[in-house]
Amino acid sequence: MLQPVTPEFIATLTETLGEDILRPADALYLEEPRKRIAGHAGAVVAPRNTQEVSDVLKLCSEYLIGVIPFGGGTGLVGGQIMAADQGPAPLILSLERMNTMRAIYPSENVLVAEAGMTLASIQEEAEKESRLFPLSLASEGSCRIGGNLATNAGGVNVLRYGNTRDLCLGVEAVLADGSVLNNLSRLRKDNTGYDVKNLLIGSEGTLGVITAASLRLSPRPARVGTAVLVVRDPAAALELLGIARDLSGDGVSAFELLSGTGVGFVRDTLPEIHQPFADVPEWSVLVEFGLPAALDPEALLEQLFVQGAEAGLVSDGVIAQSLAQRNQLWSLREHIPAANKKVGAIVSHDISLPLSALAEFIPHGMAKIAEIAPVRVNCFGHLGDGNLHYNVFPPVGETREAWAHVRDDIERLVHDLVHDYGGSFSAEHGIGRMKANELIRYADPTRYRVMKQMKAALDPLGILNPGAVLT
Ligand SMILES: Cc1cc2nc3c(=O)[nH]c(=O)nc-3n(C[C@H](O)[C@H](O)[C@H](O)COP(=O)(O)OP(=O)(O)OC[C@H]3O[C@@H](n4cnc5c(N)ncnc54)[C@H](O)[C@@H]3O)c2cc1C
Repeated sequence: MLQPVTPEFIATLTETLGEDILRPADALYLEEPRKRIAGHAGAVVAPRNTQEVSDVLKLCSEYLIGVIPFGGGTGLVGGQIMAADQGPAPLILSLERMNTMRAIYPSENVLVAEAGMTLASIQEEAEKESRLFPLSLASEGSCRIGGNLATNAGGVNVLRYGNTRDLCLGVEAVLADGSVLNNLSRLRKDNTGYDVKNLLIGSEGTLGVITAASLRLSPRPARVGTAVLVVRDPAAALELLGIARDLSGDGVSAFELLSGTGVGFVRDTLPEIHQPFADVPEWSVLVEFGLPAALDPEALLEQLFVQGAEAGLVSDGVIAQSLAQRNQLWSLREHIPAANKKVGAIVSHDISLPLSALAEFIPHGMAKIAEIAPVRVNCFGHLGDGNLHYNVFPPVGETREAWAHVRDDIERLVHDLVHDYGGSFSAEHGIGRMKANELIRYADPTRYRVMKQMKAALDPLGILNPGAVLT
């Protein structure tokens, strides 16, 4: 039975690690980006090194205190935050002070980072050595690599480079009893038994605290080209993706679907963001090529446009002619979440489907939702990965509060339909606390049982992120 943080626990903690280990428990640690959960905490600590993380976890085991590992706080499923009715006041363990790059091996294409480095700072360190760390999310200025690993984050470059799991060669982590797992491997091949690293990746802080990781870098593409092309519909977008891959020798690094609803939200709520077309198209895609020096990305994008137009897939397009224009096109894509926030979603879905089912699912889901309520769907995201953000908004001029009563019915409908199509109700954001019940409903029962057994083996007292992933 877990206990709340007590003054006695804090006294022992500060005696061992000094007063400076504590951080004020301010809003940063108690709010999540969509403000759906108000968090509570007994205290916030920010250890300076792996040994201090270990000391903290040993004490928490002794006092039976729940611990929430905390990166940048940008998680979207409530994994980093616990409401007061979800358990006794936990200790939040922030990795913010463990933010140095331990080493970089350019000839090996490997960078070793502490868990508290922000994703943007890792990208910058790689760039200094003319290398690319390809993980890229709109939250990259705030999220930390420990959080990216813990959630196995995806983002816009998964199509070409894989998700965070694919970019990690090794981890250092502290387990619930304080023991340190030293597995900062730089090896690309290492078949020596169970892959404990991959168990920790995606475990959302429930099996261990990741303190450092060795990460796989890539050569930087010599030439990059970006375009937004107006497509007939999502089926046409998928066909266009096939052409883009053939044309570029699999040099497509991003292929993002934009709906007229989402682009319209940006136009209406963020007028400072440049719109590439006079009228908002119903469907468009942002496509990016990352190519070697010998290939001309603008010429290839033009070819893509021509072939797409001839096949009846594409009707209009803008190809960036400068870095500034490229940034403008990306800015449109990256501001969709901010515009969504301003409009206020009734419910958001982070789903994935087999690519061949996707084009059918999109209108099928919308038609079924319309039977429940006259709401709007903003369907956008990482089309090439089969990953859609399928977010539902109130009718024009109405608030999400006025339509809160349809939230659960719509979520159930969408998740059931996704399941029927062989998809997943959580493509890249994870389970956290918000989707723990969905996991029970949709996971294969044997897989769920094995997950519980793993949790019991690695965290027998249940102190690590209690209530997240597994209830
Ligand atoms: C604007 C915006 C855009 C986003 N876009 C994307 C996207 O494109 N793709 C995507 O996948 N996600 C996206 N996200 C979600 C979020 O950014 C990612 O989930 C990110 O990986 C979380 O990192 P973080 O450091 O903020 O983790 P936090 O939010 O702090 O924590 C997330 C989870 O990881 C655990 N955790 C954190 N650090 C550690 C650690 N060191 N060891 C063990 N467990 C830990 C926490 O306990 C929690 O369960 C977006 C979020 C926002 C706000």
